[in-house]
Amino acid sequence: MHATPGAWRAILEPLVAAWCAAAPGVARALDLGSAEELPARQATGTRDFAAAVAAYNTRAGDAAHPLQVSLAQGERSRQKDLMRPVMDVLCARAKADLDDRALGRLQSCGGPGAGAFTLLPTAPEHRMAPDLYQLSLRRRLLMEGPRLLKDPASQTQCQNRSREGVVCGALHEPDQHHAIACETGPARTWRHDRIRDLLARWLARRVAGSVRTEQTVPQWTQRRCDPATGQDRMEVAVLDVQCVEKGTWHVVDVVVTSPDSAELREERARATHAGLAVEDAERGKHRRYPPGPNTPLLTPFAVKTGGRLGQAARQLVLDHLDRAEGLAGASADATASWQELPATLQTAVAEQILAAHRPAHRPAAAGRRR
Ligand SMILES: [Zn+2]
Repeated sequence: MHATPGAWRAILEPLVAAWCAAAPGVARALDLGSAEELPARQATGTRDFAAAVAAYNTRAGDAAHPLQVSLAQGERSRQKDLMRPVMDVLCARAKADLDDRALGRLQSCGGPGAGAFTLLPTAPEHRMAPDLYQLSLRRRLLMEGPRLLKDPASQTQCQNRSREGVVCGALHEPDQHHAIACETGPARTWRHDRIRDLLARWLARRVAGSVRTEQTVPQWTQRRCDPATGQDRMEVAVLDVQCVEKGTWHVVDVVVTSPDSAELREERARATHAGLAVEDAERGKHRRYPPGPNTPLLTPFAVKTGGRLGQAARQLVLDHLDRAEGLAGASADATASWQELPATLQTAVAEQILAAHRPAHRPAAAGRRR
């Protein structure tokens, strides 16, 4: 996102205007002579709030309740706690209007850090090209068809080409499912390769030992039946990122999953269970690369196209942040690291969608085939 002075004005002016319009009402509600007295009132307000919470907690006792807020929490956490019942109701109302496929995509966009690409960029790695940022935002808002793509040059059929130059030609859907799942052409590996390279950079900064990408692990090479030919063949295990730290051999293997499924039952399950697709992907990696004598420690790094991380992936990110206590209390550096991941992923997914519509569109540094 490029924040030009003009763009900033466009963002800030409505906010300032809204505050100016609301300030007199806020001042009246708080029994203040003017909005200028608000900062002085904040200290009293915090004391009043603390007393109200203490009274509430006494009356509510130990009963689990969404308003059972703790005074030990910061003000931002308190605000979230107080708003949670309202947000839960609004969220339930919004979900009631969605079908399973849309619900699955909504779940794909959830979880810690998934939406961090929408934050203001504080490092060059967070910046997204304006068209890719806007497309990613519209996807996150579950927009479809012309409201999602807003590109008069977009095609009704997939423009991806195979190595032999054959155009895919599949019909595009309003939610762009095919564009994200298309197996033709180099675009299919962009998002995977960007995440792999990002993890390698992170680990290289934080791990004392060597970090390498695309490394063969002979212990996991196996004979498998090729479904295309029906013949057995040796499948070499090439893992995305490898590092050796304090004598322990770690490997990380990335899998980016789409929330959509061709099976109605699976689509229903993914709509109701937020982390199902990434959990399936993690289990699949562990099945393919089981622990054994002299095998490395495997971390499956599963992430949905909307940004939801699998448990192991989230733990890996947390392990390499300055403070491993979650997003709410994380330091600025930790938040910056979280932001780089979804910004990288959403950039790659948006490029993939555009590539399926515009044959001329290619990113400057596409990853190699895997
Ligand atoms: Zn295609």
